[in-house]
This record gives sequence, C-alpha cells and structure tokens, in this order.
Amino acid sequence: MANLIDGKQVSTAVKEQVRQETEKLAETYGKRPGLAVVIVGNNPASRVYVNNKKKACETVGFQSFEYALPEDTTQEELLELVQTLNADPSVNGILVQLPVPEQIDDKAIINAISSEKDVDAFHPENVGRIMIGDYAFLPCTPAGVMELIDFTGVEISGKKCVVIGRSNIVGKPMAMLLLHRSGTVTICHSRTQDLASVTRQADILVAAVGKANFVTADMVKEGAVVIDVGMNRLENGKLCGDVNFAEVEPKASWITPVPGGVGPMTIAMLMKNTLTAFKKQNGLV
Ligand code: NAP
Repeated sequence: MANLIDGKQVSTAVKEQVRQETEKLAETYGKRPGLAVVIVGNNPASRVYVNNKKKACETVGFQSFEYALPEDTTQEELLELVQTLNADPSVNGILVQLPVPEQIDDKAIINAISSEKDVDAFHPENVGRIMIGDYAFLPCTPAGVMELIDFTGVEISGKKCVVIGRSNIVGKPMAMLLLHRSGTVTICHSRTQDLASVTRQADILVAAVGKANFVTADMVKEGAVVIDVGMNRLENGKLCGDVNFAEVEPKASWITPVPGGVGPMTIAMLMKNTLTAFKKQNGLV
C-alpha cells in the first residue's frame, strides 16, 4: 500500500512559511507583497481559481487586487491594464487568468507582463531562465510537484523520471526541473509508442495528460512515486485525476490523491513566487 502525499499538508506548510516572512517584512519595511489577478469573462472554473487565489492572499497577508473585465474586453484594453499594473509599485505580481476570450491573443498578454512581475513564470524570458537553470520564478504547478516529491524524502538524482505530457505550463517545465535535480528524464506525449513500456521504467512518474484514469496499474513500476497533476471533471461533477488511483495505489510507494494532491500546491507556489517578486523588486534579495 502506498503512502499518501498530502498536498494540503505540504501547501499549508509552504503558505505558513510565506505568511511568517511576510509579517516580518511588513514589520521591518511597512510594506506587503501585492498580487493583481485579472479575470476576463465569465468562465466558472476561472472564477473558482481566482477566488481561491484571493483567499490564499488573505491567508498569507498579501494585498490582492482583482480586476474582473467583461467577456467582450479587447486585446488593447487588456494590454493597457497590464501596462498600468506593470508600472504600479504596490503590485509585485501579475496574473492573467487563462483562458482569455478568443478575441485576445494570450501570448501577446503574457509577453506584455513585466518579466519581474510574471509570477506564473510563463513569460518567454522566465521560460528561458528555467531552461538554463538561472531562475527567480518557477512555474507554479511543476514547482509544487517538486515540493511534493521532496516531501517523500525520495532522492531524485539518478532516478528514472517519466513525465506524461509536454505542455508549456506543466510537462516541459516539469521535465526540466527533474533534470536540474539530476533525474534521468523521459517526456511522453500522444505520439509516444508503447507508452506503458516507458512509464513502467519510471521510479518517479508524473502524469499531466488531462484524461481521467488514464494511468493504469500495468503502466506503473512496483514501488514508484506517482504524481497526478490531472484535474478532470467527471459527468457527475466530481474531480478525477489522470491516474486510476484505486488500481495504482497498491503498487506505488507514494502517490498523490486528487483532489488534495498537486492542486493545493499550485496556489501555494504562486504565493511563494509573489513573495520572491516583492523581495527582488525591493532589493531584498
Ligand atoms: P495539455 O496542454 O492538454 O497537455 C496534455 C499533454 O498530454 C499533451 O502533451 C498531450 O500530448 C499528452 N497526451 C494526450 N493524450 C495522450 C496519450 N494518449 N498518451 C500520451 N500523452 C498524451 O494539458 P496541461 O495543461 O498540461 O494539463 C494536464 C492536466 O493537468 C489537465 O488535467 C489539467 O487540468 C491539469 N492541470 C492541473 C493543475 C493543478 O494545479 N493541479 C495545473 C495545470 C494543469 P501532445 O502534446 O502530443 O498532444
């Protein structure tokens, strides 16, 4: 039977560290980190994410600024807001909740966010920095996964790590972070042949596919650490990961549940990035 990796516990610890540091900074400098969250339109899932981010800001003692723009906002209007936020010293981090409505080019928006305030780490400069291992911000979800692996105490160096998924926000940076920690990394995707034979070699298996119950027991090595990034909504409204938990759990040494695994970590790492942005912008690191 696998040990459960409790993302709520780990994320609470990360947020508590951020809260304590924030209180010290507020006492010393009379200033607190500020995060601006921009939401365009009425996507209900985006609304939930934005509310959770605001709640997390309250928990750690940040200022949060919300900008809720209508569905028919133009790209020019959104770019103008981003420029205003770039210039506002009380805003240390800027996050534009994706997806944005189709009349807006999300790449143009990401490129317009100051790389120093890009706490999602999606800006090409920050992506490039991750590639060369010289980064201030790590993309929140892969960074959260690294915290969860570290929580297990399992050494990454020298291990076979397999990431299923090659998206810019999860799969690719995930692979890069494992590589920086000297894992031997394989990235799989929809064209990978005989996927199960590759995933069965993994000491550490990260699933970021977006398909419910995709990873089955025959795809997992006995004793593997299994991290499930997937967040899939079933017809009955329940959240479900990419890993068939009931099947895989008896084989794994450590496994993340969904919900309560990677999900809470993403927001905790966003708080950590915003604190880092504040410190950098105020010359404190
Ligand atoms: P994505 O952009 O849709 O990427 C999915 C990846 O899975 C692609 O690289 C795709 O390959 C690969 N894939 C699809 N079918 C496959 C198959 N049959 N065999 C092997 N690989 C296959 O998704 P994403 O943005 O990376 O997100 C992945 C999952 O993580 C989603 O469930 C998402 O909701 C979740 N997520 C969770 C969090 C969190 O905070 N917990 C954050 C972000 C994302 P190709 O490139 O070849 O198409």
